[in-house]
This record gives sequence, structure tokens and C-alpha cells, in this order.
Amino acid sequence: MSDLHVYDTTLRDGAQQEGLNLSVTDKLTIASHLDDLGVGFIEGGWPGANPKDTEFFARAASELSLRNATLAAFGATRRAGGAASTDPLVRALVESGAPVVTLVAKSHVGHVERALKTTLEENLEMIRDTVSFLRGEGRRVFLDAEHFFDGYAADRAYAIEALRAAFESGAEVAALCDTNGGMLPGPVWDVVTDVVEAIGLDTGPDGGASGEARLGIHCHNDTGCAVANSMAAVDAGATHVQGTINGYGERTGNANLVTVVANLQLKEGIEVMDSHHLQEATRISHAISEITNVPAYSRQPYTGSSAFAHKAGLHASAIKVDPDLYQHLDPKAVGNDMRMLISDMAGRASIELKSRELGVELDPENEEHSALVKKVLATVKDLELRGYTFDAADASFELLLRRELQDGLPDFFEIESWRVITDSQSTGDALSEATVKLTAGGKRVLRTGEGNGPVNALDHALRLALSTAYPEIEHLELIDYRVRILDAAHGTDAVTRVLIETSDGETTWETIGVAANILQASWQALVDGVTYGLVRAGVPAR
Ligand SMILES: [Zn+2]
Repeated sequence: MSDLHVYDTTLRDGAQQEGLNLSVTDKLTIASHLDDLGVGFIEGGWPGANPKDTEFFARAASELSLRNATLAAFGATRRAGGAASTDPLVRALVESGAPVVTLVAKSHVGHVERALKTTLEENLEMIRDTVSFLRGEGRRVFLDAEHFFDGYAADRAYAIEALRAAFESGAEVAALCDTNGGMLPGPVWDVVTDVVEAIGLDTGPDGGASGEARLGIHCHNDTGCAVANSMAAVDAGATHVQGTINGYGERTGNANLVTVVANLQLKEGIEVMDSHHLQEATRISHAISEITNVPAYSRQPYTGSSAFAHKAGLHASAIKVDPDLYQHLDPKAVGNDMRMLISDMAGRASIELKSRELGVELDPENEEHSALVKKVLATVKDLELRGYTFDAADASFELLLRRELQDGLPDFFEIESWRVITDSQSTGDALSEATVKLTAGGKRVLRTGEGNGPVNALDHALRLALSTAYPEIEHLELIDYRVRILDAAHGTDAVTRVLIETSDGETTWETIGVAANILQASWQALVDGVTYGLVRAGVPAR
């Protein structure tokens, strides 16, 4: 295994993308997906500067158990003329508890003088003081040299001096940032090669920097070359690569980390991460796009749903004879499939894993068990064709599995019908009223609920109708609601997918509904959300 750092900045730089808005819960969920992907470092945000990010680090300490990744807090060098030890923003980095602190620093003379409005020497002192202070506090320190490539073009000696100041004060990494994203691979290679030599890094026999100091690369995609530039930098001796999942980021995005890793590992033979982790890439890329609510880009390299799909009209039997004739690599290497579904392998594995969580050990050798797995897999594939995605709706997947397992899911209630009407008010607002009829606790119940929208009204009516038989659901709360219109595909009409997040005050779960009608889809997700709440509370059917 090479010792290349895979450093993810989705939660900080990626979150700068226009229209992307992540709650703290979203960020925690994304972090655990990134950990499953096997990245080495997860940059969680800028504690102290952003209250949401401060909360992220506080909650991460108790709610995140990372198996592969180390958490990094992002921040800036101390203010000009001050001291790192008394700078409140620098202190917030220490208080975040993150083992790694990534400091953004200026390395461009023009930015020091015009943006920072301080002297070149004071900027170097800010780097030295902040890095030393954080090292003294027991933190590993990485430096993001902002606008490095432009700074190198403006004043090579000063740009390199900034890196040297960081290394001499104990920084482990200096990442060269193409902040404006205007670079091309050739010049990136030239600059990184020169900097490796100027700094005197020992790049070792296989290009990996041995020892403590390493150069990193942080690319933006403004020339469409973020991935190529990152690869060129690695080729020239960088041993730390920054990027984001799905290439999220401001303007045209950051380097897509999965593409960089897959290229290095599958094309250049540099073993960057465990191949089992890379096989999760497609699933994780899609699961994260459900959380960000940014539609997954179907033509994304490696993980896009079209990445290994074949042209209509291409003879299917020819693909069957030798699929390698039509694809540049086996899609399984990144967990993708020639078709647009969860691969058999991933599906089977997740069914077995989930069953184990439910206390049912499925033995692949057991005929009855393997028939069950087959049946669940067929159901999942069928539902996914219709627009479901269980990667992002764990609770609905668990309910589906429980329905197949003997005695897995109690019959809590039986829905008879529901109805919702929305009236415009003289005030200009609209008010919704929903009626739900169901049987629970042996009694037929009819309840009406109001809400500021139809889903809100349905949620209230459903909860009211169940509250007598199941008072336990009183503290359940609908906390997030996402809608996606899915393109017409596979010869079907466009459908609506609804994801609902429900909380019981301790934990949250996601459920899904898919239908041509948005209210029908919402209703399915609501019913699953409440049903899962009852399962979680360990309530028996009444
Ligand atoms: Zn950036």
C-alpha cells in the first residue's frame, strides 16, 4: 500500500457549491460514508468561524466512530500582529478536538500585500507562529498554500519560502492549491517537480515522500483539468491529494476524489486504498448525492450510472460473450455495473449485513436463506428500476427485509384510505386538511389533521389516528423532506421520489416513497417513517 494521503474536503470546500446546503446531521452522515470509502482524512469544516462547523466537531466527538479516516479542522493562520496562542480562531481549532489542523496560508506576494494588507515577513511569521503553537498543542498540522501556483508565477522564491516556514515549524504537509483553478497539467508537473527539489524532499524509490514532510495538491476544475492536474502533481512527487466526492465545489468544482483515486489505483497501479473500499465508490457517491440533493451526474467517470452502460442497439449477446471488449475496466472495481442497478454483489452483501444487524444470521450455504436473499434482491432491483434508492433510505430497506423475514415485522396498523385538500385563505396563505382512516389496536379510527402543506397535514392526521393505540409515536418528529423528480427512464413516465427523515429525539432515520403522484410518494415515506419508529421503540402490534 502506498502511503499517499487521500484527503477529502467535501464538507468544507465541496460545501461551497452553489445550491448545496448541508445540515450538521447531513455532514455527520456524509462523514461516515466517506469513512466507509476509506479516505484517510475528512476535513469537517471551519470551527470557530462557522457555528454549524463548531457543532459538527462537537457532535462528531460523540456520534462519529471513524474506522479509517482522521478528522481535520480547517482554519487560517493567526491575525497579523497578534499571537497564535491568544487568537480566538486558532484556539477554536484546538478546541474542536480534531487531531489534524489544516491551516490556510498566503504564499502569493500580491495576496499578502493587497488582501492580507501586511508585510511579507509578518505573513511568514504568522505561518511559523500558528504552526508551532498547534504542534505544541499536540496537533498534526497541514498547510494549504492558497493561490500557490499563481504565487509561484508572481514570486517563486517567496512562494517556496512560505512552504519552508511551515515545514520548519513542524507542518507535515504543504498542499499546493490551485485556488483559481486555471492551471494545466504540464505546468503543474513543472512547478511541483521544482518545488520538490527546492524544498529538498526525499521522494523515495516509488515517488512517495519518506519521512514527515510531504507536498500535497488541491485542484479546482476551472480548466476541466482538476483530476489531470492532481495526477500530474502526484507524478511529480506530491504524496497528499485533496478533492471532494462527486467533484463538489464552487464554480466548476474541485478534483473528484474518486476519479483521482481510481485513476491512480486502477490505471497506474499505485495502491492507494483497499480495493474493497474502492468497490463501495459507486454506492457511496450515489448515497451522498441523495443527502446533498444534487442529482447524481450520470456521466461521471467510474461512478456515474451511464459510466458502463452500453449504447442501445449494441448487440447484447456480444457483450455477454466478452464484456471486456466494450469497457475500459471491470465496473465491479468501483462497485458499478454494466446496467444501472446496485450490483448483485453489493446487494447481496448489504442484505446479509442488514440481516445480521437484525439478529438474523443468513448462511449463504443454507438453501432457504439463499432463496430469501435472492427474493429480497429481486424485489430491491425491481423497486430500484422504478426509482427507489435504498442507499439513502436505510429504514425503508430494513422494513422491506423485515417483511420477508418470518415474524420480522408486526402488523401495527392497516390503512383504509387517506385524503388531503388544500384551500386558499383570504390572507393569501394556503391551508391543508388531511383525513386518514385506518385500523389500529382493533379499532377503526378516522382522524383529521391540519397543516401548512399537504404532507404536513397528512403527517398530523396519521399520527393522530395512531396515537391512541401507539402513544409511543408522540415524540416522533418529521425533520427533513426532500423531493426529486426522476427523469423518464426505462420506458416509464417521470416519477417523484420522496425521502423523509424522522427523528425520535435520539436518532434519525430515512424512509422513501416513489410514485407518479407526489402525495402518494410522500404518504409511503411517512407510513414507513412511523412504522420504523414503532419498530425502533420495540412496541408490539396492538
Ligand atoms: Zn479550494
